[in-house]
Amino acid sequence: MVSRVIPVEPFELVIFGGTGDLARRKVLPGLFRRFCAGQMPKDARVIGSARTELDRNGFRKMVADSIKEFGGKELASQAELPEFLECLDYVATDARGDKGWAELSAMVRKELVNAFYFSVAPSLFGDIAERLKRHDLADDTSRIVVEKPFGRDLASAEELNATLAKHFKEKQIYRIDHYLGKETVQNLMALRFGNVMFEPLWNGKYIDHIQITVAETVAVGSRGAYYDKSGAMRDMVQNHLMQLLCLIAMEPPAQFAPDAVRDEKLKVIRALQPVQPHEIVRGQYEAKDGQPGYREEAENPRSFTESFIAMKTHISNFRWAGVPFYLRTGKRMATRASEIAVVFKALPHSIFEDNEPDRNVLSIQLQPNEGITMDMTIKEPGPGGMRLVNVPLDMTFAEALGPDAEEVPDAYERLIMDVIRGNQTLFMRGDEVEAAWTWTDPIIEGWTARNDVPKPYEPGSMGPLDAHALMRRDDRNWREVKG
Ligand code: NAD
Repeated sequence: MVSRVIPVEPFELVIFGGTGDLARRKVLPGLFRRFCAGQMPKDARVIGSARTELDRNGFRKMVADSIKEFGGKELASQAELPEFLECLDYVATDARGDKGWAELSAMVRKELVNAFYFSVAPSLFGDIAERLKRHDLADDTSRIVVEKPFGRDLASAEELNATLAKHFKEKQIYRIDHYLGKETVQNLMALRFGNVMFEPLWNGKYIDHIQITVAETVAVGSRGAYYDKSGAMRDMVQNHLMQLLCLIAMEPPAQFAPDAVRDEKLKVIRALQPVQPHEIVRGQYEAKDGQPGYREEAENPRSFTESFIAMKTHISNFRWAGVPFYLRTGKRMATRASEIAVVFKALPHSIFEDNEPDRNVLSIQLQPNEGITMDMTIKEPGPGGMRLVNVPLDMTFAEALGPDAEEVPDAYERLIMDVIRGNQTLFMRGDEVEAAWTWTDPIIEGWTARNDVPKPYEPGSMGPLDAHALMRRDDRNWREVKG
């Protein structure tokens, strides 16, 4: 692999839940990629820790297997694998007991950058935070990384924040939303704030509306009973979709610095209007072709939890007054694709008779492929008069930046390296999370009080028909997102 990156300083990273799904699927293969890229130094160490009894070699074998399973054959065959495995260690700890903590404390080299990844259920955050302090593992320079879900409503999020605040300062807490680690999400900021031509158009005078779609083809599957306690609003909208909305809508920060960026995001969340019942469509996928429906997978025949949601919301400020933001996300949909589309207004007057130009659309694709395109109107080349066509202008610039540019790190990799560098820009601050729940809670309470039943939708579709009606009522349509 090509080394184009500056190594971070040597670190000790302890992953609590180091044998769990997230660690095996994302965190550990991601660290190996950073090792191959030369960003993780050879004298850094990753210590797995979980209840499971394992020794160092057992953990190394588990990590090698995970790299093969989740990173692919190519990654697993990298020559650097044995060296990376040398950087791994393991200590079994019980988050709720004393087992392993003294051993872990003796192992961690405290003079290095210390980070502790809480890849465990949030109910263990307080226990682990308290033990890190009690066993002298963490001090005021240590960092902790916590995963979603960060609460299930405002009260529980406040409680989690208060628990962590007992032991760590806000500048030590890294709340991960991996959507913020995506290359194109950061490119969106570069595009908006690094070019002169977008900012003057970035308002209700020129923008008709904005669509954010996060579509998944997967079902809730074996996680059904767990998912049934949250639903699409809590699982996706409150965090990922709102973070994307913030980056699209925020004012330019005075500088690209963690709190300057997060202050502006917070203002967006606080300016979100309450959503009215007729602006929300919730759905549940049906059974099809022998595949179970949502309620069967949730093991709850009377479940009112949504596996799909579409909604329209507004931001009450000068920039966005009158511009609707349409959000939708769901499981078992037609395609796996995430896209933000900024749909510009129609021309005030077209000089091309019988040949009206299409609207400009800036679309930011987050998955499966990352990229940014701008639909522009040009003249179709060749003779035959003034025929207009709409073509996408590709602004990913992968070619312009050379062959290595395509090798972008996965969101988790980038975020973990940011933790080591001590850069919180792409992490959620406690007040941001609480503001997001403050907006979300009344919406959920509203449909709960109304006993609102989600609409069934066909698996492989783009959600219930009502989701299309939500747009059509406003004389608009959802864009076709490509997987
Ligand atoms: P998991 O159940 O696969 O793993 C949990 C880990 O915690 C295991 O290593 C287990 O040994 C350890 N553990 C449990 N109780 C313990 C105790 N008392 N003491 C010490 N260790 C203990 O869970 P996961 O899917 O890896 O998820 C971990 C966290 O990350 C959860 O909060 C989850 O919501 C979040 N998350 C997971 C994913 C994912 O893709 N799996 C994605 C986003 C967020």
